[in-house]
Amino acid sequence: MTDKYAVIGNPIAHSKSPLIHKMFAEQTGQDISYEAVLAPLDGFATTVKRLRDEGYKGCNVTVPFKFEAFQLATQLTPLAEKAQAVNTLKFDGDTILGNNTDGTGLAQDILYNLKIALNNKRVLLMGAGGAAYGVTLPLGHVGAKLTIVNRTADKARALASSHISDKFMVSGCSFDEIAGQQFDVVINATSAGLTYSEIPLPPTIFAPGALAYDMMYGRETPFMKFAHEHGAAIVSDGLGMLVEQAAESFWWWRSARPDTRLVLEALRGKK
Ligand code: NDP
Repeated sequence: MTDKYAVIGNPIAHSKSPLIHKMFAEQTGQDISYEAVLAPLDGFATTVKRLRDEGYKGCNVTVPFKFEAFQLATQLTPLAEKAQAVNTLKFDGDTILGNNTDGTGLAQDILYNLKIALNNKRVLLMGAGGAAYGVTLPLGHVGAKLTIVNRTADKARALASSHISDKFMVSGCSFDEIAGQQFDVVINATSAGLTYSEIPLPPTIFAPGALAYDMMYGRETPFMKFAHEHGAAIVSDGLGMLVEQAAESFWWWRSARPDTRLVLEALRGKK
């Protein structure tokens, strides 16, 4: 019997996850279906429970429900527990297991697809929502020296202070406080691109050779345009992260590892 999975979000029509998981299933011979499900903004928990009652095996969770998914999960992986945000759920009877594969996906994309080392690099992470929470610890694991900046600065400070340790250099601040600083990697984990909004970055923010990485995909965001205009050496969208985090979810559900490179090439129209 075909095992059913879904991605839940609001909005969700733009999602490439169904296509990605279809390609993973074909590659690995797994018998699954995967669809996009729109949940009302006040109806995330009801939607998850409906899917579980209909026999779905699990789901991915996207904007804006990752914190609610964390609350709903009855068991958490260590990464999800630290992130306080969940992007992947697995159903096992009454148990709802929560995981977070965003950070592993981002690190895989930067380290292995873009081939950029993060150890000891000055990394600026913009945003303090579900995506930023998901990637903070994995960025620490790969040795990044992390500054988190957010429009609501207190949220950046709270995220940084929940991760600080003697092994992990991380601080949180406002956009005003990054004036005069330079970074080797600047990651946009805000949703500003969804509304085509500018982010108030100083024009000298990119160190020589810097990577500008936007988690959004599908079109050039104002941040990517800014990066091209202000000296970033490499500008990337978040399509690679999307594929890599999907592969981690697929692995967690199915114990099968797809070849992400082939899928990414197909999505970028290179095959
Ligand atoms: P959330 O809604 O949880 O958080 C949104 C964040 O963006 C907040 O920090 C918010 O700041 C900030 N923000 C919103 N609008 C603006 C603006 N105009 N200027 C500056 N900051 C702004 O969203 P998520 O964290 O879940 O997702 C963020 C983005 O990352 C989305 O675009 C999502 O699609 C993308 N993403 C991509 C993934 C991939 O695989 N490629 C995976 C995960 C996410 P404040 O706190 O002040 O409101």
